[in-house]
Amino acid sequence: AEILERVLEKQQGQSEMGDFEPAPSEPILVPNQSALHARPAAVLANVAKKYQSGIRVQKGDTQVNAKSTVAIMKLNIKLNDKVNLIAQGPDAHEAIRDLTPMIREGLGEEGHAPAPAPASVSMTELAAPAPRPRSDDPDLLLGFTASSGLAVGNVFQVRHAEIDVPETTENSPQEENQKLDTAIEKGKIELEALQARLHNESDPAKAAIFAAHQELLEDPDILEMAASAIAKGKSAAFAWQTAINTQADSLARLNNILLAARANDLHDVGRRVLQQLMGAEAKKLDTPPNTILLAEDLTPSDTINLDRSKVLGICTTLGGATSHVAILARSLNIPAVAGMDPRALDVEDGTPVLLDGNKGTLRLYPDTKEVARTHALQEKQRIKQQTALKNAMEPAITADGHRLETVANISSLADAEQALSFGAEGVGLLRSEFLFLGRTAAPTEDEQTETYTAIAKTLGPDRPLVIRTLDVGGDKPLPYLPIPQEENPFLGERGIRVGLDRPEIFRTQIRAILRASTEGKIMVMFPIISTLSEWRAAKAMFEEEREKLDVPALPVGIMVEVPAAAVMAEQFAREADFFSIGTNDLTQYTLAMDRGHPKLAAQVDGLNPSVLHLIAQTVNGAHTHKTWVGVCGGIASDPQAVPLLIGLGVDELSISVPAIPAIKAQIRELKLSECQENAKKALTLDSAAEVRALYADQVEE
Ligand code: PEP
Ligand code: MG
Repeated sequence: AEILERVLEKQQGQSEMGDFEPAPSEPILVPNQSALHARPAAVLANVAKKYQSGIRVQKGDTQVNAKSTVAIMKLNIKLNDKVNLIAQGPDAHEAIRDLTPMIREGLGEEGHAPAPAPASVSMTELAAPAPRPRSDDPDLLLGFTASSGLAVGNVFQVRHAEIDVPETTENSPQEENQKLDTAIEKGKIELEALQARLHNESDPAKAAIFAAHQELLEDPDILEMAASAIAKGKSAAFAWQTAINTQADSLARLNNILLAARANDLHDVGRRVLQQLMGAEAKKLDTPPNTILLAEDLTPSDTINLDRSKVLGICTTLGGATSHVAILARSLNIPAVAGMDPRALDVEDGTPVLLDGNKGTLRLYPDTKEVARTHALQEKQRIKQQTALKNAMEPAITADGHRLETVANISSLADAEQALSFGAEGVGLLRSEFLFLGRTAAPTEDEQTETYTAIAKTLGPDRPLVIRTLDVGGDKPLPYLPIPQEENPFLGERGIRVGLDRPEIFRTQIRAILRASTEGKIMVMFPIISTLSEWRAAKAMFEEEREKLDVPALPVGIMVEVPAAAVMAEQFAREADFFSIGTNDLTQYTLAMDRGHPKLAAQVDGLNPSVLHLIAQTVNGAHTHKTWVGVCGGIASDPQAVPLLIGLGVDELSISVPAIPAIKAQIRELKLSECQENAKKALTLDSAAEVRALYADQVEE
């Protein structure tokens, strides 16, 4: 009854809306790196629902209801797409005014684009659409890495039987509507309880997945479709199942892995309501010990109830590295393989298997030797990790006595604290963007001073803190710093270019850094420096503010992340106090391949010999003038790259926080002389793959 009423209300509302002129927005550039998928779409729909006016999102010639998460997802909105909002009703102008900046700021996803993961992960992650591999060995099945690690156990197949539902009913549509309403309400209560539990377990990321599910239960497009089937005499269960399946199928058909994966979420939440309607028990996976779960796909509801003490690995034939299953498996630290050969679904329960999350394979009937070898390897890795953590506070000195400075990449005060507990000797890169993103006005000088001071105090007087000035640009617009839309944002106003063009923001940040600098060992560096004139202009502004504040001099350096800066390293080294090589951008600009491009990113490997040559050139130029060089790009945390960076002569590695203990431990096992030999050899090789083969035995833990 309520649903029908809602639909009727809506229709009446729409005729009233006709009295108002439609209010369109300006075109809005979408900044989200990975399309408007479930979470940002839900954020938009949720806020849109607060307005009385009808609101539509338009992309190209297609318009959809902005209050429907599913409809927004189906628009398949991608990074840099232009969309318009059209509102019609009494509060249309407020709606446009409020919603436009939200979309422009990324709908809660305005975080800094993640650095590419070390290639052993990212190559597989980004290989999702590649043709499915198949092996000739009937007992070796192939898939893709979703979460690394090894597991030996027995197969347990998870099958979600379609719940049988009657198509028609003797009941009146009112009664069926009532039943559906009650089932949906119960589903929501379950989801609320789940979220509360996850919040209590300090797992907000997982809670957010279920918040998005809750949102799907209020989706007007789904509710309308179900209500109209019920009005035609269908049963509530049939109407609901059809509405969910129709919407899920259309998501699955979109040429977008991320959105297609959301079809799984729709089925999951759909099943939750169906179970309520049919009085079916939500089956908890009752897994025996030593289980390797096999399934076409696991739903978030399945994975949330996994018994971690019994499930040792997960293997699905669908899904990819971006699916919730992969994300959850990684957060639970369970090895997982996705996109597995579908023959895996025919394997009988109880079959002994070896799941290799590093290689993305499933071995059936592994022989005792293989099993023993895996167990030994697991034990060795466990001890290695434990030892690395135990020795994390020791310095990183190679076996032949060469010391590397091992510092951390951070973007918050909490990161700084964690980095110290993992043995960081300081901070080699503070990505200051975190202070600027996700807000409507720039942080004030005082606010910034306070944050930098707090981080400096955490590190203490002797540990370096390298603060990078704001690195935003056309690809990451800030609402209070409008940059006109650009054809090529990565080649446009980005990094230091923004700082030089908007001196007020740059000078405010510099003043805050200078004021905090008396509290610790602070250094400053500028991002995306391409030319000496950019460097000199930025440095001059820095010195002007320093003199005004009458603060002692501090080291000022540059990020080397544009090939021009690497090639001109000798000239830069005459003037800059230090270099930090940003291999993420350096690789993208050297290879002319967007670091976030879904098709190219697998090739954007910092171990490409071309990038290694530029690193070598940077180090040589720097050392001519006794300027020290760090590396803060993703490869500084990659065990296959670390020996080569050392061999090329870098002085400091700035590492992602969780990888610090393992990288420090690895360095203690290396010999500088061997690293130098291999680095020399790497420069003569043809490809990143050949370079990686030099340290093939070094895999990520
Ligand atoms: C880099 O480009 O390597 C780097 C460390 O900077 P970011 O990843 O923040 O662009
Ligand atoms: Mg960079």
